[in-house]
Amino acid sequence: MSRGGQGILASFRDRALVGKVAKEIAAAAKGNPCRIMHVCGTHEWAITHAGLRGMLPEGVEVVAGPGCPVCVTPGGEIDALAELACGRAAVTTFGDVVRVPGRRTSLARAMADGGDVRVVYGMSDAIRMAGREPGKEFVHFSIGFETTAPMAALEVGRGLPANLSVFSTHKLIPPAMEFLLRAGIEVDGFICPGHVSTIIGADAYRGLAERYRKPMVVAGFEPLDVMLGILEIVRQKRAGEAAVSNMYGRAVSGRGNEAAVEAMEKVFEIADTEWRGIGRIPGSGLRLRGEYAASDAAVRFGMGEAAADSMPAGCGCGDVLLGRIRPEGCALFGKACRPESPIGPCMVSLEGTCSIAYKYREKF
Ligand code: SF4
Repeated sequence: MSRGGQGILASFRDRALVGKVAKEIAAAAKGNPCRIMHVCGTHEWAITHAGLRGMLPEGVEVVAGPGCPVCVTPGGEIDALAELACGRAAVTTFGDVVRVPGRRTSLARAMADGGDVRVVYGMSDAIRMAGREPGKEFVHFSIGFETTAPMAALEVGRGLPANLSVFSTHKLIPPAMEFLLRAGIEVDGFICPGHVSTIIGADAYRGLAERYRKPMVVAGFEPLDVMLGILEIVRQKRAGEAAVSNMYGRAVSGRGNEAAVEAMEKVFEIADTEWRGIGRIPGSGLRLRGEYAASDAAVRFGMGEAAADSMPAGCGCGDVLLGRIRPEGCALFGKACRPESPIGPCMVSLEGTCSIAYKYREKF
């Protein structure tokens, strides 16, 4: 990064500047309480790591929504992939997925039982592995929001080795936001996800802002980015506005990355899908189009759709994902449920709200 770039970055982390914005938020929030939701694991990390909640005035609350793709992956899908790994195929996926408890088992348990589960950084690793072992079936468990789906789409579109197929559990964020708004969740505005917005663009939230009369602010991940985003929502609420504000213009455009969206649309079609702990959300999933059936593990292995799913007994992840409670509100937090012995998915993933809260619990 250039010296100029480093200087700009430093200013986005400047505590004095952040404190100044906190004062502006306090002034704008007087007599104007505001409950804000973000839907991004990296925003949750940024907010918690920088201790931003402690800088907000009384009456301004920022809650985490369903911004962790691993956390909302149905336990039934995890079970199905774990079963495949025990004799039918090698399953490749990201590291944090392996430890997530399914309904009956997990990929980690499948590994301990001799199953073939391999941690990869992306589908390109799975392609290399499948190429090296042509006599073995491979299934890539492809997880993520609009951020990771384009790369998966590009790889599938280029053509996969005959012994590699993909199980897609990719999900879309705007339909989840709409689902929450339609369900009447109590929020005054959204901090829209930064990474997802680089792909879909800030304009993708216009319909939601108009239909539900809520401010939608695209924000970056530095402390000043987040605080300016909060200030904009509080300000809009006070003024009775409900607009989309793109405050992350250094990475997000109005129309997003059109080539990435085109790649996704070519390979995937939109489907209703199950979000663990939340329910079935219309039009929020991406499954492979019929033309790519030969690369679709769901077709190749006759896997059905994930059934309605719940969290492990006693786990409050469903409420955490809906912003109803903070992790500390779950009776198991830090006691029976810790990163080394997770009970729910939110304690496993690095983007999980509980895992982030646990990591920084003594800092603030
Ligand atoms: S602390 Fe553990 S059990 Fe409780 S909500 Fe979080 S992940 Fe689930």
